[in-house]
Amino acid sequence: MKFYSTNNKNLRVNIKQALFLGQAPDKGLFMPEKIPKISENTICSFKNMKYPEIAFDVLKKFFKDISENYLRRISKDAYNFSIPVEEVDSKYILRLDQGPTASFKDFAARMMAGLFDYYLAEDNKKLLILVATSGDTGSAAADAFFGKENIDVCILFPKNEVSVRQRKQMTTLGKNIFPVLVSGKFDDCQDFVKKAFSDPDLKSINLSSANSINIGRLLPQSVYYFYAYSRIADFPEKVVFSVPSGNFGDLMGGVIAKEMGLPVDRFIAAVNENDEFERFLKSGTYEKLSPSRECMSNAMNVGHPSNLARLIDLYGGNMDEKGNIKKMPDMKKMREDFFSVSVSDEQTIKTIKNAYEKHALVLEPHGAVAWRGAEVFKTKNKTIVFETAHPAKFPEILKQFNIGIKVPESIALILDKRESYETIQNYYGSFKRLLAGKYL
Ligand SMILES: *Cc1c(COP(=O)(O)O)cnc(C)c1O
Repeated sequence: MKFYSTNNKNLRVNIKQALFLGQAPDKGLFMPEKIPKISENTICSFKNMKYPEIAFDVLKKFFKDISENYLRRISKDAYNFSIPVEEVDSKYILRLDQGPTASFKDFAARMMAGLFDYYLAEDNKKLLILVATSGDTGSAAADAFFGKENIDVCILFPKNEVSVRQRKQMTTLGKNIFPVLVSGKFDDCQDFVKKAFSDPDLKSINLSSANSINIGRLLPQSVYYFYAYSRIADFPEKVVFSVPSGNFGDLMGGVIAKEMGLPVDRFIAAVNENDEFERFLKSGTYEKLSPSRECMSNAMNVGHPSNLARLIDLYGGNMDEKGNIKKMPDMKKMREDFFSVSVSDEQTIKTIKNAYEKHALVLEPHGAVAWRGAEVFKTKNKTIVFETAHPAKFPEILKQFNIGIKVPESIALILDKRESYETIQNYYGSFKRLLAGKYL
């Protein structure tokens, strides 16, 4: 199976190269040339299978070069926590917040750690993973890769957009985990990572990424769409997924699942006040937001979602890395498959309050944006709403409504630990100097 760059379909690599490169050398994103199908029988059989078994069945379609035993084992190791689907007010909540860092980012990070490990052992190489984060990607990667012999993780996080608990999840580990505070925004962090990848001076460092520009992030994220479907629906019934979206990596996992054969009626792309996709679907004109808007659902403060390039590619269009549309996608088809809602902070708070008072449902801001999206979108189909972070990550909000919940052990443990991180100014040169000093 080959993967091409969204900037040039003739630039093709295999899965291992796509995973290690993260981004294509021409700054495009890798897409599978042909998305493999999962048969109706297999989808039906998921009903009686546990999550790690479903993960194995889905991922083996892509990672054909990895031994089945190994893939089975890392699926089992990665997904050793509960993944509840709860029925609330005739909708369903998929709780992706029970992993070790209490966000859905654990699903991809834990699988990627196993995949990188496999390929690095094959080549006897060392690797530096660069991660830009507005909170959850960094902590999930830090946890998943912590203590790995051949892998260092350098995490860039913006000064004001990361909660204290999120920061501590990254800065209290040490060892092979290097957090860097950037006096800028998430988009700046993301920009530095992209620049480092195409910087000829850093070529001798073996770099990869754990952001959703990496196809290795997206493939594990298609698994929970199959899983959630199998818990509540019968083939070929179509369902709706409401996904709280920032860089659209989570959503792209769903789009891949649909291309593989999962019966999906519609994806609700629920966004906060960073409404560039909502406006694009309506108007057909894409305008990124720069700077991005700071909302309480901070992991979704993205002014230009990197995965739009993939989405637009899949619908027959072309978008370059700067967000310019070179060729329009099939907007009619996109509007049939997607519905987008932008939810203000004010509405997010109202939704958290309502959900708690009416349904005893405890949501945090990201899940609340998705829940609101599902309330706005009228459908007869079963709707699955993703809760992507654990509410205990947002103590100020819980306090505001007198909601008492237990703090997961993983979060409680780090609160008193000592922090350590570097601080850099908001320009690429300072990041480059840091990397060069450490690794060249
Ligand atoms: C990262 C994140 C999102 C957004 O996911 P994308 O893949 O960037 O769209 C939503 N909720 C939480 C809690 C997150 O950490």
